[in-house]
Order: sequence, then structure tokens, then C-alpha cells
Amino acid sequence: MERVVIIGSGPAGLTAAIYAARANLSPLVLAGGLYGGQLMLTTEVENYPGFPEGIMGPDLMMHFRAQAERFGARIENVDVTSVDFSKKPFVVRTADDEYHAKTVIVATGASARWLEIPGEELLRGRGVSTCATCDGAFFREKHIVVVGGGDSAMEEALFLTRFGSKVTVIHRRDSLRASKIMVERAHAHPKIEFIWNTVVDAVHGETHMTGLKLRNLETGATHDFDADAMFIAIGHTPNTGIFEDQLDLNEAGYIESPDGTHTNIEGIFVAGDVNDIRYKQAITAAGAGCRAAMDAEKYLEALEYAMAASS
Ligand code: NAP
Repeated sequence: MERVVIIGSGPAGLTAAIYAARANLSPLVLAGGLYGGQLMLTTEVENYPGFPEGIMGPDLMMHFRAQAERFGARIENVDVTSVDFSKKPFVVRTADDEYHAKTVIVATGASARWLEIPGEELLRGRGVSTCATCDGAFFREKHIVVVGGGDSAMEEALFLTRFGSKVTVIHRRDSLRASKIMVERAHAHPKIEFIWNTVVDAVHGETHMTGLKLRNLETGATHDFDADAMFIAIGHTPNTGIFEDQLDLNEAGYIESPDGTHTNIEGIFVAGDVNDIRYKQAITAAGAGCRAAMDAEKYLEALEYAMAASS
């Protein structure tokens, strides 16, 4: 019987592991085959406190992991295939094993959506990004493209005007989905331009992005477009597929939590981007992991006290 199983190994999951391990709970982290979360896909992280010179995303995650292991967290690089939270102890299954747990912390994160076009994968971190807060500062005085028409795209575009000489928003329709205030701000900004009814078909460049191939959806015409960076802001998908019938999810598929740690099932806690539609930062996820572990510890203490008293 495990006392704490943590599903996920991004900043939320591993911070939860550090706190749970230091509380002597010997947590088991089911880290996923592709462990480490979204920071494993980024290059330099300049906004994580404590690293004044910046740190590479994968290096930061290896530090998190080493710190959790130092205090006794056990980390398995396996994917969770299903869970059963309808009975106690909770059941967590992987392809080869079944774990029984008194508490579970769900920290499976969210995945930024990509366009899935030629050149995109090759140039990730070399001009192509899904995180303006992380990578915007690398493109000072450059021409930056933002793809998308929602609040995230407007927020990214406005943020990127601090760095870029020009920001071009490319949207597949002729009207924006973003909230009115964001639309007004973006339209009013002298550095922001819009290209409507257009999609990006390919990213050009070998060692870094040099431009895009655009296609007008009304005419079908394509043309090459010079730009130094492209930030894709077409939404995130929370990694909640295995929890669909088990936990309350909101309309966008994120796990519901009244206070950012508790879920609708007592003993199941949540942390990080899987519950966070708004901030989605490594530091906010780490903070959430800390809170979830502290609440899980409190829950376990009460549970084990009640069990001892009744036996
Ligand atoms: P979103 O509202 O779902 O918008 C995604 C945008 O990307 C849409 O304009 C969509 O086009 C476009 N898109 C989707 N797939 C595409 C594709 N394959 N190719 C080209 N374009 C594509 O996502 P979001 O902007 O990340 O926002 C998510 C939620 O968070 C929203 O509820 C939003 O209000 C909220 N949010 C709020 C704030 C804030 O309040 N400051 C900031 C960020 C996010 P269509 O319009 O044609 O569908």
C-alpha cells in the first residue's frame, strides 16, 4: 500500500514529491515515459527564480528530480494507463503494475497545441515556441508572428510588443474569439498587425526560423512571409483523458478544484497546469505542487489517526 502516489513529473509533480518525501511519506512518482513535463521541450528558462543567469529547461527538471530523490521519492518513468478512484484504497494502473494508494496527487499537466506543419518540430526552440513568457526576450527588435485568435494569442501578442519590432497576428478567420478588452488593446497597439483568413502551412529555416509559408483560406493563394519567430497560441489540452469518468472536469477539460488542491474525491489532490487554465508557469505549478503535498499530508495524518483510533 502506497501512502502517496504522484502522477506526473513536471514542476508540480516533483515539487509535490519533494514536500511529501520530506514529510517522510516516501512518495511514488509515476513520471510518465516522457518525464519532466513541458520544460523538457524548452531551451533556456530565464524566469524561474534562483537562476539569475537562466537555466536550460531539461537541466532544471533534472535538478527537481534529483532533489526529490535525495529525500526518498521513488520515481518510475512509466505512463499511467487507468485509475479507479471510486473505492479506497485508490487504484492506479500502468501497463505492467497496479498500485494501491491512500492518496493520489494528480499533476499530469497540459500540453500546448501545435500546428503540426512541416518545419515546426525542427525549429522548436529556434524561433518556434508556444510560450512568449519563456522565449519572447530572445527576439528583441525582430519580426514576431503570433498564431491564434483567442485570449492567449492576444495576451502573447501584447506581451511580445515589448521585444519585437513588429508583431503580426495570423488568424484563420476574420474575427477574433478573444474577449473584447483584449481585442481592443491588440487593435490599438501600434506594433500589432493582423493577417486574416490565413493559416501557416510550413516553417522555413534550417538552424533557425527565417520565414513562413502562408495560405489564404478564401483564395487558396500561398506566399512566403519573412519573420524571425512564431509563437503558437491555439490553446492547450489538459492531460485528463484517464480521469474523465473519475474526477469532475470543467468545460475545457481541466480538473475542477474549489481551492486549487482538493478535487471532488476526498483523498485525491490536484496540482499544476492540469487545473490551471490561466497562469501555466513553472513557478505557479511548483507552488501548487507544494500546496497539494501539504494538504495530502494533512489528509493522511487525519486518516491514519482515525484508523489507529478505531483498531
Ligand atoms: P481558445 O480560446 O480556444 O483560442 C484558440 C484560438 O486558436 C482560436 O482563435 C482558434 O481559432 C485558434 N486555433 C485553434 N486551432 C487552430 C489551428 N489548428 N490553426 C489555427 N488556429 C487555430 O484558447 P486560448 O486563447 O488559449 O484560451 C483558453 C481559455 O483561457 C479561454 O477561455 C480564454 O478566455 C482563457 N484565457 C484568458 C486569459 C485572460 O483572461 N487574460 C488569457 C489567456 C486565456 P477559432 O477562433 O477559429 O476557433
